[in-house]
Amino acid sequence: MEYIMCLIGMGSMLGIMYALMRTSTKELKKLKNKPEYDAITAKLPDNVTLGKQVLAKLENTHTTIEETKENQTLYIAISDKITVSKEEKNYTRVQTLVHECIHAKQPKKLLIFHFIFGNIYFFSILVITILTIFHIIPNTLIISNILLIMAILFFTVKLYLELDAMTKAPFITEKILRENTSISEEEKRKLQEGYQKVNEKAIPYSVFVMLLNICIPFAIYLLIAGIVH
Ligand SMILES: [Zn+2]
Repeated sequence: MEYIMCLIGMGSMLGIMYALMRTSTKELKKLKNKPEYDAITAKLPDNVTLGKQVLAKLENTHTTIEETKENQTLYIAISDKITVSKEEKNYTRVQTLVHECIHAKQPKKLLIFHFIFGNIYFFSILVITILTIFHIIPNTLIISNILLIMAILFFTVKLYLELDAMTKAPFITEKILRENTSISEEEKRKLQEGYQKVNEKAIPYSVFVMLLNICIPFAIYLLIAGIVH
């Protein structure tokens, strides 16, 4: 019964958050789908060159930039490397690149802790769920509390790292655009307007998705523990 109560509580909390967020994947996709803005950013340097410009702006001399075929721009803390896709043509590519470059400036120990602890959290849930199914763990309530503490700690670190990157990115993007001479002042203004609209929706949406990704495995464990015990 306790597990079902926890599940209802978690579901209600996520439901309220979703309602307050007042945005959806569909709406966000629509905001990102702006061919007019894509045409403006096409005049800017490619992602690798732009990434190097951003790193220089942030006075980061240690991080390397590597091109990838995958359609994803990502900072990997362990190798201190940003992988960028040349295929990415959407206008949001500039701000995404800036976002990842900001991650590269964050405390390295915290980034590595986030990566390792995140893996430990998801792996622990998997192992504990299997042990619970086979009745190997006698007191699942204590284990549930330990997992909850782990989830809160992981979410707190993730939230700090992401909010730091998401809130700083618009200012750095503005500086990068201002220094670029290949697009007009009017085009820069249009892009800034586009980024502002995306950020208004994308920041709360990203926080919600982060929370959802951490809660879902925990909710599956609670459900199984509730059925088994
Ligand atoms: Zn990020």
